[in-house]
Amino acid sequence: MKKFDYICIGAGSGGIASANRAARHGAKVALIEGKAVGGTCVNVGCVPKKAMWFGAQVAEAIHKYSPDYGFDVAVNDFSWKKLVESREAYIGRIHQSYDRMLGNNGVELIKGYARFVDTNTVEVAGEHYQADHILIATGGQAVFPDVPGAEYGIDSDGFFALTEMPKRTLVVGAGYIAVELAGVLKAFGSETHLAIRKDKPLRSFDPMLSETLLELMKQEGLEVHTQTQVEKVDKNADGSLAVTFNDGQNLEVDCLIWAIGRKPNTDNLNLDATGVKRDDKGRIQVDEYQNTSAENIYAVGDIIGQAELTPVAIKAGRLLSERLFNGQSHAKMDYSLIPTVVFSHPVIGTVGLTEPEAIEHYGKDNVKVYTSNFAAMYTAVTRHRQATRMKLVCVGPEEKVVGLHGIGMGMDEILQGFAVAIKMGATKAQFDSTVAIHPTSAEEFVTMN
Ligand code: FAD
Ligand code: NDP
Repeated sequence: MKKFDYICIGAGSGGIASANRAARHGAKVALIEGKAVGGTCVNVGCVPKKAMWFGAQVAEAIHKYSPDYGFDVAVNDFSWKKLVESREAYIGRIHQSYDRMLGNNGVELIKGYARFVDTNTVEVAGEHYQADHILIATGGQAVFPDVPGAEYGIDSDGFFALTEMPKRTLVVGAGYIAVELAGVLKAFGSETHLAIRKDKPLRSFDPMLSETLLELMKQEGLEVHTQTQVEKVDKNADGSLAVTFNDGQNLEVDCLIWAIGRKPNTDNLNLDATGVKRDDKGRIQVDEYQNTSAENIYAVGDIIGQAELTPVAIKAGRLLSERLFNGQSHAKMDYSLIPTVVFSHPVIGTVGLTEPEAIEHYGKDNVKVYTSNFAAMYTAVTRHRQATRMKLVCVGPEEKVVGLHGIGMGMDEILQGFAVAIKMGATKAQFDSTVAIHPTSAEEFVTMN
């Protein structure tokens, strides 16, 4: 039996980061992966999504904005296949760089699915591997609803496997993935429908963001069906799908994408052999140091269901290795003030408390909110004006900024720097004392009255 100091199960964002950091501190490390190195983010998540989103930006620049910038453009063709080829070639280069990095750090990559034999031993394809410490970083997968014909739909993995752009698409869901994929498809010219079971998407976000997104998605021509659930799906003889909604309405589409949430990948791990506890949603329970209920078994990333974002999995994985293999006994992930961007159309950036959360936490009298509403200049010089809306949520007499929210062009790149300021405890006065950069959208955050 092969022995290691550390085994990481899952070569996604969290597993790779933790394995590399442990190996750099001299640990003998194995990394086990059942599919492709890079996990969800690199293969079927952030990276291909952002490539499609960039493609959508190009489409909008050509079709919507270029005429008023003086271009008379004739588009001969748009090849979805070519875009997918470019995207996958880029992902191939990321795979190569990961392989190099793992090799340079001396991490042993074991291909196959791991299942626990006991708390120190896992089995992969009949071989047993032992370690003093084992990390579970097996991520999650999309949930499909329990409705007749659900299997005719695809999930986000299926979206990335599409070789042609569907002409008519229904996206079902109200979270990050639903609004991102619907926005991309609409920008490429697919007739796109979004079915939301409640009144708006992204309900846990600041109301200004969710309400503006709904308004702007409709303005951009996306068919948004609110208070709507799919009751059944039938396949027509020509391969198209007939969708029946709970209000009796019907819709015919070529592609149906389920984006109604994700569930943790724990089923094939044989956790019963370890005593690792899960919550009622199957997510692995950990303490603030990523310790599970079983000694020397840890978990990071989507499998624990807290802020399911790549940088969170990476940071938690690295800090765990600092604690286990570099003597930093108090190293742990800080899950507060995590900035996040939704690559919707337009893009959303948010960090900290929403206005309702701040009021609930500090009381209405202690909360002061500043807002800004303008047309992004890039769009304002064309006939396709698009709103940008921003909000600062401040508390106490010193007006500490506890929440920053924005929707509009450029928010993806604007947010990171402001997240640093908020993490450092910046006040509204300190925002205001910073000289604006003109003409930008970002300057609105330091000039709000
Ligand atoms: P994963 O990256 O999912 O890796 C887990 C790995 O474990 C997988 O490769 C899996 O094959 C493997 N595995 C599972 N079981 C076993 C087993 N028994 N043995 C061996 N291997 C196993 N986050 C962002 O920050 N920004 C974004 O823009 C963004 N976009 C996204 C878009 C989509 C469509 C999706 C689905 C997610 C997106 N995310 C984004 C979320 C991000 O991808 C995840 O938070 C991140 O990948 C979680 O990393 P992880 O290490 O926990 O798991
Ligand atoms: P989310 O949890 O974000 O959203 C799913 C939403 O779908 C729910 O909030 C719910 O909204 C709705 N829903 C749930 N069940 C049903 C149902 N049966 N029928 C219709 N709607 C339903 O999940 P996603 O899959 O979109 O994304 C998973 C996670 O991945 C995200 O939370 C995020 O952490 C990460 N991610 C990050 C990205 C980024 O950083 N840009 C991009 C993509 C994913 P409601 O209750 O309002 O109906």
